[in-house]
Amino acid sequence: MTALHVHNTMTRRKEKFEPLDPAHVKMYVCGPTVYDDAHIGNARPVVVFDVLARLLRRLYPKVTYARNITDIDDKIIVRAAERGVHIDTVTADTIANYHADMAALGALPPDMEPRCTRSIPGMLAMIETLVDKGHAYAAEGHVLFAVASYADYGKLSGRSRDEQIAGARVEVAPFKRDPADFVLWKPSTPDQPGWDSKWGRGRPGWHIECSAMAKDVLGITIDIHGGGLDLTFPHHENEIAQSQCAHGGVQFSKYWMHNGFLVVNGEKMSKSLGNFFTVRDLRARAPGEAIRLLLLKTHYRAPLDFTDEGLRQAKLNLDRWYRLLQISDALLDSSQKEADRLNPMDVPPDILRALCDDLNTSEAIARIGEFIVDKGYRHHRDGNLTELRMAADELRSAAAMLGLLQVNPEAWFKQTLNATGIPSRNSFGSSTIGNTKPLEVHMEEYEIDTAIAARLAARKAKNFAEADRIRDDLKAKGIVLEDGPKGTSWKRDG
Ligand code: AMP
Ligand code: ZN
Repeated sequence: MTALHVHNTMTRRKEKFEPLDPAHVKMYVCGPTVYDDAHIGNARPVVVFDVLARLLRRLYPKVTYARNITDIDDKIIVRAAERGVHIDTVTADTIANYHADMAALGALPPDMEPRCTRSIPGMLAMIETLVDKGHAYAAEGHVLFAVASYADYGKLSGRSRDEQIAGARVEVAPFKRDPADFVLWKPSTPDQPGWDSKWGRGRPGWHIECSAMAKDVLGITIDIHGGGLDLTFPHHENEIAQSQCAHGGVQFSKYWMHNGFLVVNGEKMSKSLGNFFTVRDLRARAPGEAIRLLLLKTHYRAPLDFTDEGLRQAKLNLDRWYRLLQISDALLDSSQKEADRLNPMDVPPDILRALCDDLNTSEAIARIGEFIVDKGYRHHRDGNLTELRMAADELRSAAAMLGLLQVNPEAWFKQTLNATGIPSRNSFGSSTIGNTKPLEVHMEEYEIDTAIAARLAARKAKNFAEADRIRDDLKAKGIVLEDGPKGTSWKRDG
């Protein structure tokens, strides 16, 4: 069987994945801070780790995948004040949109979705342990983690002490013993959300939230901890420090996996740079599945340049894949006995091999397009209906590993006809939001192949008038047919 290998940020190497307990694999991924709708960069870790969760579930009998919701954060407090609504309204609205957006991208809900507001006792208990063990100290209503108390601090990110201080990007409060120390608990004013504690009424810092939620839902040690590259430092470095110091040095996570950035014209997509597109905006212009395919066409560790043209291509790829399924479904009764069909659980070995190689989705997608789909159309053109059917089955099971082709072809074509359309060729840098130009109509390869197969069938049935009509119709659309000993080929006129 193919063994899974993953790149571990901690060791900076691709390693064989050996779970602590093969009977139960545990994964934690940092989820959204719910003050605003997710942008397409935020969707990248969701889609990437959704594919990893699907793969793990194929390889191991039990997988628990937890992705949290950060519903305590100063950005939420600011947003509620701006909107003039209660904090709970901001978080509830944002969570509802997030769930709808991620479902539209074909991401399955995680098994556990802990929220900060529900894990306060766990956070307070962990902070207390850290203070008791001398890893944290209270000062002016705050509790701070003493970075100097943990010798391995900086190991994940490989940052030197100077870089740690610069990278923390916080103004150094006078009560900090060391500028690198970070907040575990901070005081709340009466108008801010707060919980009673032995250090006064206050709220947790971001890093302790994840350490405590991971422990609450998965236990002390997990197999995989994931998130975007920007979380390596300080967030994940701090999570490690907190969890391992609270648990007597016991390892927090065996593997650390980070997705690369989604970029626009070479710059990281982010709210602060203002170069972002929300998933919500894009869903009005393209099917969620096309967005998902585009996200997965690039290997998860590489930067991903998000362009209109890329999105348009992803949509056309899916049209071509779905059309093959549709053609094959239409021929099912006459062509092939159920008994010959591929078991949907049988993933084509080269697809599984690509995914087991540090989740090489770009390789898997290239193979689906270049081998499985091309093969299917070739068999269709040659009238090999049994082989066509097998290629369609192979396509279905390969795509399912990536969470693709999950609706029936009729639903796909109906939905894409209703979509308002993707503006063509402009780059996102020049902002094309609001463009509602309809999708361009193309004479796609699958349509040509379908016409050629119909012409072949007409000739077999000695209906030469119909066969000629099809040839002339194609010619009018700029497609010239050539009949040869190996069947009919075509080329575009001019
Ligand atoms: P946030 O809500 O900002 O905490 O981000 C949620 C998740 O999205 C984190 O895992 C981030 O690392 C990730 N993320 C944010 N921006 C990008 C981006 N431009 N490309 C890829 N991942 C991102
Ligand atoms: Zn986190």
